[in-house]
Order: sequence, then structure tokens, then C-alpha cells
Amino acid sequence: MISIRHLSKTFHNPDGSVVNVLKDVNCDIDKGEVISIIGPSGTGKSTLLRALNMLEPPTSGQILFDGQDITAKGYRLDALRRRMGMVFQSFNLFDHMTVIENIIYAPIRLLGISEADARAEAMTLLKKVGMSQKADVYPSSLSGGQKQRVAIARSLAMHPEVILFDEPTSALDPTMVGEVLSVIRQLASDGMTMLIVTHEMRFARDVSTRIFFMYDGIIYEDGSPEQIFEHPVHSVTKAFVNRIQKLVYEIGNDEFDQLDMHSGINAFCIKYNIADKASLAISIADEMIQNHMASVRPLTFRLTYTELTGETALDFMVEGLTESPFAPGKFPEDIRSKAKDIIQEPTTRGFRIKILI
Ligand code: ADP
Ligand code: MG
Repeated sequence: MISIRHLSKTFHNPDGSVVNVLKDVNCDIDKGEVISIIGPSGTGKSTLLRALNMLEPPTSGQILFDGQDITAKGYRLDALRRRMGMVFQSFNLFDHMTVIENIIYAPIRLLGISEADARAEAMTLLKKVGMSQKADVYPSSLSGGQKQRVAIARSLAMHPEVILFDEPTSALDPTMVGEVLSVIRQLASDGMTMLIVTHEMRFARDVSTRIFFMYDGIIYEDGSPEQIFEHPVHSVTKAFVNRIQKLVYEIGNDEFDQLDMHSGINAFCIKYNIADKASLAISIADEMIQNHMASVRPLTFRLTYTELTGETALDFMVEGLTESPFAPGKFPEDIRSKAKDIIQEPTTRGFRIKILI
């Protein structure tokens, strides 16, 4: 359906500097594929999507869509954009129009559909994204997740053959990410061809037929979710997909700011969408730091979250120690009963107690 050949994009900045954002991108995308594009920021993911529907005309190379070069002079860009929908991080709804007016605007003007037919179809699409009760309200009264679902319905109303999503959940509160991802999942199971730039690793692994890992202006690694996430070929890919988010506190001999740690743990859990684990993490941290390991100072406490596996752990690390401060079989029962698993192990510099929750 889409073939990209030697695509490059160079930006010339006002200060005279030149950035080669896309260097030599090559790929073929079949109808019905769901491709997640992942990679560090600044590696050209958005530029690639924008090049695909010619919002950002490439510097060189070709993009073939159904065999026709869309970068060629004279190619009808309005027709291209009808066939290739785009959903942005920031929704881009018209604020002065109601939800249903947002959806029927383009089909009436660009596809020549009657208003009655457009409204009937809009209601079907709103039902599909779970927003039919909100047809007559203005976008300002909706949550971010609801706005994004309307934006998806609006895109579907043009009957696109492909939809490009540029970080559709990045602007949302963590509580609303799920509702948008489940709409996209539904589209995937309907067979819609989609390219999705996303930071949601677990979603990408579950929903995609293929993953593009972008790095340094190229598709650095391209493969099935299993290949990219379980057996990446390149070490940069491996490091990226296994990223671990960390929150670290050094607990010395002087007074430790416990409330500051509580709010830090709360904020961390909200940010990574594990708010349900915050109170357990706080209670285990308090118990370990103030009670069971009160005599062990300095102590390093680390809360970690592995995005890909969803593993959440509290690490308590002591330098210079070679074995557990707890006698065999004497690990505190109150902690053991709350944990999924407990791993006690020596590290290069000391000893670690890892409590998985
Ligand atoms: P990603 O989406 O992977 O974070 P982008 O495609 O947005 O990356 O941007 C890649 C690089 O291109 C960044 O360094 C960015 O600053 C630069 N860039 C993007 N758009 C422009 C532009 N219009 N002018 C100059 N530089 C740009
Ligand atoms: Mg981007």
C-alpha cells in the first residue's frame, strides 16, 4: 500500500545550521498493518508521519501510495489527505462547533455527502468511540480523552484507508490513556491500516503487527513486536525497549523528609499510570526505612517501573554489606505478605533487597 524509498528531510534553521532529520528511510507497508513507531524523542518520528501525508514535503526520496508517487508534482494532495487521516497529540478540534458538527464538517464539504447522511454516520461513529451522548456539546466541556475519541471519529468520517497517529495519548492525564488506546485497539481489530507514534510500550507490543524503532534519522530496526521487544538485534534498541523509570532517595543519618518522599512516590505512580500501587509503595517504604532497616544508614531507596513488563519494585540498597541484614527465614512478615516477590542479592557494591509489588 505504501512504499518509502530513500526518504530524507533536511531542515535549514534561521541561524544557518542544518539538521538531517530523516536520512534514508525505507519501508513497505501493507494494507491492514498496524505499525507502531517508537524511539527516543527528536529522532524524526513526527517528521516521518508528516512527510507521509505531505504536511512536510521530503527533501529527497519517494513515497509511493498505491503505486503512485505522492511527492511528484501534480499529485492531488487534497485527495491524499482524504485517504490518509491524521490524529494529533493536541486533538485539533474546532472549538466553536459542537462534537457532531466537528465530525460532519469535512464529509459534507469534501465528500459531498448530504447533511442527513453525514449526521447519521456521525452518530454511528460516535457510538463506536463511546461518545454518542456528547454529540451536541462543545469540545470545551469534554475531557482530553473524550476530545481524542471525537478526533478519531472525525478522522473515520472521511473513510480513510490509513490513519496516522502522532502520540495520541501523550497530552492526556494518565487516567484517560486507556479509553483512547481501547478505541485504537478496536480499529486495529476492524482491520484499519494504522501507523502510530507512541511511547506506550505495552500497547505497542499488544496491538501492532510490526514495530519501527527510529533512531538517528532512520528506521534503525524493523520487526515483529516479539523481535523488537524480546530479541532486538541492536543494543540501542534493547536499551530503549527495556527502559526503566526510577525514583531514588538517599537516606543518611540526618533527618529524612518522609512527606517529601510520599509526594514523590505519588507523583511517580501517577506519571507512569500505576496510581493503584502508590499507597502500597508508600507503606512498604515507610516500614522498611523507619522500622525494619532503621539501623541501616546510609540506605538508598529506589522505586523502579519497567514500562515494557509493568514490573514495579522497591529496592533498598546498602553499600558495603555482603549479606542480608535479615537472618534466614526472618524477613519481616508484614512486608512479605504485601509483596508479589522478594529478591535478596549481593550487588557489585553491596547488598540489595528488591520487593516486587
Ligand atoms: P520526534 O517526533 O521523533 O520527537 P521530530 O520529527 O519532531 O522528532 O523532530 C526531529 C528533529 O527535527 C528534532 O531535532 C527537531 O528539532 C527537528 N525539527 C522538526 N521540525 C523542524 C522544523 N520545522 N524546523 C527545524 N527543525 C525541525
Ligand atoms: Mg514527535
